Amino acid sequence: MFEFHGHKCWASALGLRAGLIALRELGSPRSGAKTLYTILETGYNHGAGCFGDGVRYATGCITGKGNLLRNPRGKLAFTLIDPQKGKQIRISFNPKIREQIAKLNFMKKRSQGIPPTEIPEEDVWEVVNLVLNAPEEEVLFIGKVEDSNFEPPFEVMGMEVCEICGEMVSLPYIRLLGTNKACSTGNKKVCIDCSGYKEGFEKGRYEK
Ligand SMILES: [Zn+2]
Ligand SMILES: [Zn+2]
Repeated sequence: MFEFHGHKCWASALGLRAGLIALRELGSPRSGAKTLYTILETGYNHGAGCFGDGVRYATGCITGKGNLLRNPRGKLAFTLIDPQKGKQIRISFNPKIREQIAKLNFMKKRSQGIPPTEIPEEDVWEVVNLVLNAPEEEVLFIGKVEDSNFEPPFEVMGMEVCEICGEMVSLPYIRLLGTNKACSTGNKKVCIDCSGYKEGFEKGRYEK
């Protein structure tokens, strides 16, 4: 998992643990095809966002497959959904362990701006082992398995080639450009970048 993530850190280790607990509670195997969906609540460019990679690794809900949806709230939290069973569970970080994490050398060095890759191995393992070995209810709030009315997003299969840049574009992202400026719609099929539109798609819902 650390190889996939790129470095060793407590947040990705905790995400892995949380993902495995969510699978256990739902009684569902890791998502091969799109059997499961994750709604991830970590945001962008913030500390401990690595949590999301552990969740991805454990659950098999990943960006390219389209079964990782994002609801960026800056929280180390996610909901794992099994649409076939109609069940879901939400798990989030329990701040109770935070003080213990902060006391360790790893976090002291991180707060001095030292990148995780330059922190000595033993300091890294100390914090990783803490979140992996602590009783699960002391590191995570584990929700109850609940009924889910989640409907998997509809998948559009078709693609077209942009008539300006020549790159392939999925149909919902194709824009029609008028050849005549007075006309608001046209028939030239182009990508969002070539269309001149500022906002052309639903932002935030899907992983960027
Ligand atoms: Zn990390
Ligand atoms: Zn284009």
